[in-house]
Amino acid sequence: MSPTTSLSILRMAVPGPLRRIFDYLPPAGCDLSRLQPGMRLRVPFANRQVVGVLLALADSSDIAPSKLRRAQALLDSQPILPAEMLNLMRWASRYYQHAIGEVILGSLPTLLRQGQAARPTSEACWRLSPAGRDVDRDSLQRAPKQAALLHILKAHNEGLTAEMLNQQLTNWRPAMSRLQEKGWVDMREQPVGPEAPNPDREPETPALNPDQQRAVETLNASLNRYQCFLLDGVTGSGKTEVYLQVIQKVLAAGQQALVLAPEIGLTPQLIQRFRARLPGRMALLHSGLSDRQRLNNWLACANGEADILIGTRSALFTPLPGLGLIILDEEHDLSFKQQDSFRYNARDLAIVRAQKSDIPILLGSATPSLESLHNVSRQRSQQLSLPERAGDARQPDLRLLDVRHQKLEQGLSAQLLNSVQQHLDARGQVLLFLNRRGFAPVLMCHDCGWHARCLRCDAHLTVHHGQQQLRCHHCGSQRRIDRRCPDCHSENLNFIGAGTERVEEVLTTRFPDVRVLRIDRDSTRRKGSLDAMLTEIQRGEPVILIGTQMLAKGHHFPNVTLVGMLDADYGLFSSDFRASERMGQLLLQVAGRAGRAERPGEVLIQTHQPDNPLLQYLLRHDYEGFSQALLKERADAELPPYSHLALLRAESPEAAAAMQFLQEAKQQAAIIHSQLLAFGPLPAPMERRAGRFRAQLLFQHHQRGELQHWLARLMPELETMKSARKVRWSIDVDPMEMY
Ligand code: ADP
Ligand code: ZN
Ligand code: ZN
Repeated sequence: MSPTTSLSILRMAVPGPLRRIFDYLPPAGCDLSRLQPGMRLRVPFANRQVVGVLLALADSSDIAPSKLRRAQALLDSQPILPAEMLNLMRWASRYYQHAIGEVILGSLPTLLRQGQAARPTSEACWRLSPAGRDVDRDSLQRAPKQAALLHILKAHNEGLTAEMLNQQLTNWRPAMSRLQEKGWVDMREQPVGPEAPNPDREPETPALNPDQQRAVETLNASLNRYQCFLLDGVTGSGKTEVYLQVIQKVLAAGQQALVLAPEIGLTPQLIQRFRARLPGRMALLHSGLSDRQRLNNWLACANGEADILIGTRSALFTPLPGLGLIILDEEHDLSFKQQDSFRYNARDLAIVRAQKSDIPILLGSATPSLESLHNVSRQRSQQLSLPERAGDARQPDLRLLDVRHQKLEQGLSAQLLNSVQQHLDARGQVLLFLNRRGFAPVLMCHDCGWHARCLRCDAHLTVHHGQQQLRCHHCGSQRRIDRRCPDCHSENLNFIGAGTERVEEVLTTRFPDVRVLRIDRDSTRRKGSLDAMLTEIQRGEPVILIGTQMLAKGHHFPNVTLVGMLDADYGLFSSDFRASERMGQLLLQVAGRAGRAERPGEVLIQTHQPDNPLLQYLLRHDYEGFSQALLKERADAELPPYSHLALLRAESPEAAAAMQFLQEAKQQAAIIHSQLLAFGPLPAPMERRAGRFRAQLLFQHHQRGELQHWLARLMPELETMKSARKVRWSIDVDPMEMY
């Protein structure tokens, strides 16, 4: 037998939760010399057929030859994943202790995962004609639907498909036909892929200030080899400008650039800026695309047709053969961590990818994570600072409002309300921040103390007044608001506390002549509604914005002159050790929305803890001091980044099953390794959620490698434990949330 034909066992990643690679025989009649790792094959699995990815060819299997099943069909003539990506995914699968099949198949565009050909697909696509680009929106005042379409099309040079249009407008086809008849819109059947470079690019780049200049020069001198940089620049300091200039350099060298942003930070404004400036073909990957567009954009990146990929977390897994730079914007943002199924951290994996590809990676933030700052102090990462706002904009003034003994009107102090009035009088915009949506967090009976609780969770139901509903924010269950107390039949039911909906109501009554815009998950559920509100804000008329953390990210509100934080205290009293870090980041991010242009901003923070030392650092814009104080606390408590954690979670409809499984898991861990610290098991902070009882066991080790090693030995043991069958369990390596 010749050596090549002896490699006749296919080692495959197949979808599913099992932490294993599966062996198959090649498809009947398949020319073995055509098989290469990274190709897809259709294979039988249990009693189904699934799409798997070939990882390697082997000459033998642990499975008896008679039991090996035969793959059905080869789906690709070329590998769709290069060796480099397979290596990254195998690394991730090992590090996060997650099934390789889910890691690899989960990273592919849906259509490839379903077995469709790796070819761009065509679909009808509408875009503005050159004549349409010059049309003034106001000329369509009597045809609002056409005006709306025109507005949407203007924001999408690459064109829009029916699926995308459906997400933003209903019944848009008649209006679209009108626009086509007028010659303002072209429709073509075409593969919708990356955008060609914008012909009306702004060739002018602003003169960089000395800090930006230094950052750009340092980065330009480090291209073509691995180095991690932390671009630590206050909000509005011109980080995006630094990104643009470095990307230009990378493109000029004929390389590709990958830009990752949080879902909510990937705003039309950001994309517009990239589009306006960069001389490259740009591909986007985010949740707003159709499956075909995702496929086309992914393919364009993989075959080198796209020069720039801008995307959210999962775009990290896109093949980019000429990758020369990775940028990760808002690196502190929690949305880089996937919180279910494959629980990876895209920031950490992006660093691994840069290392493996030997290219630089740039992490940017106004409020860097403690992990990234720690990496700077260990010289794993190089800090580039932009301590001043770019141009003439100044940092806003931060002040605390001591609300102890003050009468609050649904969370609003008289002082804050007065300031709102003053800023509106001066024709400024006002942004109020409250991280609690809904009308009121509790519905309570005044006569007997009964309060509305979720039947499936250990949680209160939130009152949503607009819909006259009680909703559970943990499991989504909902019902109508009670008229009478179910216990004592009293009609004396009170709403306790205030969420954004209630504050909106107070503001509308109090400022009847001013538009109040509420921006939270409820008010922006409908696609396009956030865009519409952002457009209204950009017009610059005095408005009051009341919103949750959706307001804190990415947006530029140049006319906002007052920011009010209704409740800064919640972050100071949480059981999660990351709560203070998050509170500080959120506070400075929200504050950063104020006074970005020529109008100076003011930030008022309501608190019952005016002397809190952490708040004092933030008031002075001393994020450095704030983070050093927190790092000291973490070091003293041996918490990350000074130790490494893995959280084993279990849940079951049976009350004791999760605890029992974790108890056994702890015993197993002790057998494998007596030095591995295991805390718990403990019931989760909210034990019952959606009808399941949840518990957790925390592993800790001061050495990452050691923890990895022992986890890898523990996982197979857990998979075979009898008590594991009664629970759903998962392992979360480097958990970001401790519930
Ligand atoms: P960041 O990304 O740090 O929030 P941006 O890059 O968005 O900051 O810059 C904030 C504002 O300052 C933008 O309007 C940008 O156009 C402007 N800007 C950035 N760099 C300069 C510069 N060197 N000179 C003048 N204006 C600048
Ligand atoms: Zn009652
Ligand atoms: Zn619930």
